[in-house]
Amino acid sequence: MNFYVMTLFPDMVARGLNESIIGRATEKGLLSITAVDIRDFSEDKHKRVDDYPYGGGAGMVMAPGPVVRTCEYVKGLIPEERREKVKVIYLTPQGEVFTQKKAEEWAKEEDLIFLCGHYEGIDERALDMVVTDRVSAGDYVLTGGELPAMMMIDAVSRLVPGVLNNEVSAEFESFQDNLLEYPQYTRPEDYNGCRVPEVLLSGHHANIEKWRREQSILRTLNARPDLLEHAVLSKSEQKFLQELLQRQEEGK
Ligand code: SAM
Repeated sequence: MNFYVMTLFPDMVARGLNESIIGRATEKGLLSITAVDIRDFSEDKHKRVDDYPYGGGAGMVMAPGPVVRTCEYVKGLIPEERREKVKVIYLTPQGEVFTQKKAEEWAKEEDLIFLCGHYEGIDERALDMVVTDRVSAGDYVLTGGELPAMMMIDAVSRLVPGVLNNEVSAEFESFQDNLLEYPQYTRPEDYNGCRVPEVLLSGHHANIEKWRREQSILRTLNARPDLLEHAVLSKSEQKFLQELLQRQEEGK
């Protein structure tokens, strides 16, 4: 899978994605990450890419020309037959909030282009011309789109076949069935008097699975009850949830 990042800070993106699992997947050729400097497409003799906002107000706005030219250049790197359908994603706090579902959807693409804003953002005309999707990292404002782009590339990359050594580890995770993951333990069995739950030492796979699902439901109820509305639960799990809710109600 190929990621292209249009940014004023290409080194930040290249360095940030050069390590660990994503770095190894890039070395193996499973992923390619190309960070392109928008400043290289400035026609200003001082390589300026920003200007004052029309109508006044604080801060600077990224001018349309360099952004549109960078996008044309990046699209030129993509084979012609895939160019038309490629998503150009603008990172913006005004976009749809990124989720695991979105990561799964994007992992099916061959190419993704990310556009990182800075300062007060990007001239709206450039966005209208090149952007297909506007996506947010969450309800807070950052100084630039680089960290959200890196975060989203990480989340999508680990769903690309072969990127994780053990593909099963991407299958049973938080947000699977709209539930958070169960607690995890490793050796030692006893750490400063705190023991690993006995069921995990029992070797009884069905009981372990049941315990993990119940822990997932309990965690989701405590931390993210909003997810439970769309959680995929068996009849007995629904009963377990009802019991938890009843206990919660009685405890009030
Ligand atoms: N003035 C803009 C607004 O109020 O919507 C915010 C601009 S922000 C300071 C600069 C850049 O950071 C944005 O163009 C965007 O690319 C990026 N950015 C900031 N917060 C973000 C978020 N929550 N998700 C994605 N990108 C974000």
